[in-house]
This record gives sequence, structure tokens and C-alpha cells, in this order.
Amino acid sequence: MNLTNLEKVLKNEPKYRIKQINEAIYRKFISSWDEATILSKELRETLKKECPIDITADVLVSKEKDSIKAKIKLKDGLEIETVMMRHIDGRNTVCVSSQVGCPLKCKFCATGMMGFKRDLTHEEIIEQVVFFERYLKGERVTNVTFMGMGEPFLNYDNVMKAIRFLNKELNIGARSMSVSTAGIVEGINKFADEGLQVNLAISLHAPNDKLRSELIPIDKKYPLKKLLKAVDEYILKTNRQVMFEYLLIKDINDSDKHAEELAKLIKKPLYFLNLIMYNPTGVFEPSKRSREFKDKLNKLKVNFSERHRFGEDIKAACGQFYIK
Ligand code: SF4
Repeated sequence: MNLTNLEKVLKNEPKYRIKQINEAIYRKFISSWDEATILSKELRETLKKECPIDITADVLVSKEKDSIKAKIKLKDGLEIETVMMRHIDGRNTVCVSSQVGCPLKCKFCATGMMGFKRDLTHEEIIEQVVFFERYLKGERVTNVTFMGMGEPFLNYDNVMKAIRFLNKELNIGARSMSVSTAGIVEGINKFADEGLQVNLAISLHAPNDKLRSELIPIDKKYPLKKLLKAVDEYILKTNRQVMFEYLLIKDINDSDKHAEELAKLIKKPLYFLNLIMYNPTGVFEPSKRSREFKDKLNKLKVNFSERHRFGEDIKAACGQFYIK
């Protein structure tokens, strides 16, 4: 999809034309200009040449058919991965990428291992959702999470533009969108002032800086004290709950002592813990003592939820996005 020339094509057209076009692409989810019969044949032919709307992607569907992963080819030939999770309650969540690769090199994450290529434009972020809207043929994408390839707050402006566009044009509720950060403090500060009802999630994964900086190198720049101060200020400004994600990795962060340290950090108003079972990426192994860890948290009266595992067999689960 490449709409860079749209303004040029519509230069001599009446103002309402852009509304009609947005309606066709982002509400009716046409996949060919031929379907936009509200436009003249001549305009459709020009748009075909100047503004292609086809999306090139390889699709993989999980055994359970509850996750669909798409590898989308961008206009410069680079590729990104995006996944849609189909929940039993009818929600369809698309997990979008915000960068091609990622510069943060978190140890447990396949994307981190592939290095950083470039930021995505806001159109390229939106395109991932449009792809699945077309795929669903009538059913709708209900939720969007910025948890795919890349650190969203390192591509802040394009992520915010995409969020506002998805909300306004595709009607996806702000409260149904979430941005997950490895802990970029400047991003959290700015996000607090956006006046958006979008959810914030923090990739925590360790309850102390010694371990966290080994797993998430950016912790050296933004240690827990700094990070949690930014989170507290965010909560003060927005009064919104913040989700802390914690991957359970075998013999790394899953002991009772880790649970105790975690409880000390997390037992605060509007802090909420989300446990994620680690998905193998070739470096670590999934924890074998998740039950004991959860029991310990329960004893310590920590509120937490556990994320349902999607798409492990098609490498579409958390931390598994990778392009060779
Ligand atoms: S976990 Fe997120 S921030 Fe860390 S390397 Fe992977 S994509 Fe980047």
C-alpha cells in the first residue's frame, strides 16, 4: 500500500473526495480500486497507477486457528511481522510492529537479535491493521497492541499518529489499544500528556536492576527507580492502571525470592501484573515452576493475570517475531 501520491492525484478534485476515499479504504476495506465504484472510472485508473492499495503478505495460521501471522512486505522490500489473536469472547486483537527490527536487544527476544533496520511510518503501522480488517471480511479488529517488532516509544510520533488515525478513521476505541515499552522514560512522560485513554504496559521481566539490565540492556540507562518514578507520575496525571509484563523464564526470574522482590515493587495502587509464559527463542527455556511462582504471589496478595498463549507453533507469540 502506498498513498504518498494521494494528495497530488486529488489536487483538482472536490474536497469531499478524500472522505470518500478514506471511507472506502478504512471503513469498507476495499482491496482493489475497482471496488470503489463511487469514484469515476478515470480516477480509479489513476489511483491504480499512483496509489497502489494491495498489501503483499505471507500468512501463517496456527493449529488452533486462533492466531494468524502475516509477514508484510514494505515498499522498500523490507519485511515486518504482525499477528492477529482471535479470542473466544469474539475480540480480535492485532499486535502491530512499530519498527523493522529493534535496537534494544533484549536477551529473550527474537526481534532484538535481528538488529534495527528503520522506523515504520504511521501509514505502515496502520497498514498492518488494515491487512487484518480485510482478512476478516466483515468481522472487525477490536483491539490493537503495540507489542510487535520494535520499541514504540523510539518511534513516538508515528505511533501516536497511527493511534489517533486508528481511533478516528477505523473506529477502534482508545481504551482498546495498548502501548508496551521496555521502559523509555521520556516516552512515558510524553505519553502521560497526550490526553489519550490508551493503555500503557511496561516490560518489567525482572524485579531488580542487576537481573533486569542483563535481560533488557536499556535498564542501564533507565533503571527501575527512574522508570517507576515515571510510571508513578503517569498514574498521577492520568489516573489510569499500568500493566507490568513479566515473562517467566526457567531458572532466571522464577524463584520465590524473585516473587518476593516483585511483590515489593508491584503492590501499589493502579499497578497490575501480567504473567507471560516464556516462548522459546533459542536462548532461554520456559519456567517449570510457574504454579509455585503464582502460589507465592497469591500468598503475598499480589493481583495478577496470566496471558493466554497464542501462536507458539507459528512463532507468533510474544518475543518470537523475527525476519531472516
Ligand atoms: S522485547 Fe521489545 S524492546 Fe526488547 S528487543 Fe524485543 S522488540 Fe525490542
